[in-house]
Amino acid sequence: MDDCIFCQIIAHKAPAEFVYEDDHVVAFMDIYPATRGHCLIVPRQHVRNLYDVAPDVAAAVMAVAVRLAPALRDVTRADGMNLWQSSESAAGQVVFHFHMHLLPRYAGDGLHVPGNRRRAAPAELNGLATDVRQRLMA
Ligand code: AMP
Ligand code: ZN
Repeated sequence: MDDCIFCQIIAHKAPAEFVYEDDHVVAFMDIYPATRGHCLIVPRQHVRNLYDVAPDVAAAVMAVAVRLAPALRDVTRADGMNLWQSSESAAGQVVFHFHMHLLPRYAGDGLHVPGNRRRAAPAELNGLATDVRQRLMA
């Protein structure tokens, strides 16, 4: 994918500060960090987002997140960590090559993910859950 910045980074044709590489997954520093130490974990295979990624590729990405998180915590002395993924523009996806954000969090850093929550009516939850269970079995 010649026009994909993450494919270019993976091919070392665009610069990035790598923290991890293996046969299937790379991780590098986000160039516009939301917090200090913000990293991206990216499969080498170009897939658009969560709708397209194969479970074994997603598992490989998650395994790197599990390995990287404590190292990032220790280096940054973060107070917490978010694992974050955006699929499609409405969710904030900007780079259309699947990736997960590993986002160190600091007490009082002011980030709010997510906002505007309200307690749902039980019937609403039941209706949605019923539809999802049926869709999974279709
Ligand atoms: P998303 O909104 O989930 O698609 O996130 C894309 C992320 O990629 C953003 O946090 C950007 O700051 C980051 N990003 C875009 N271009 C680069 C780049 N060349 N090197 C590192 N991170 C990048
Ligand atoms: Zn790509």
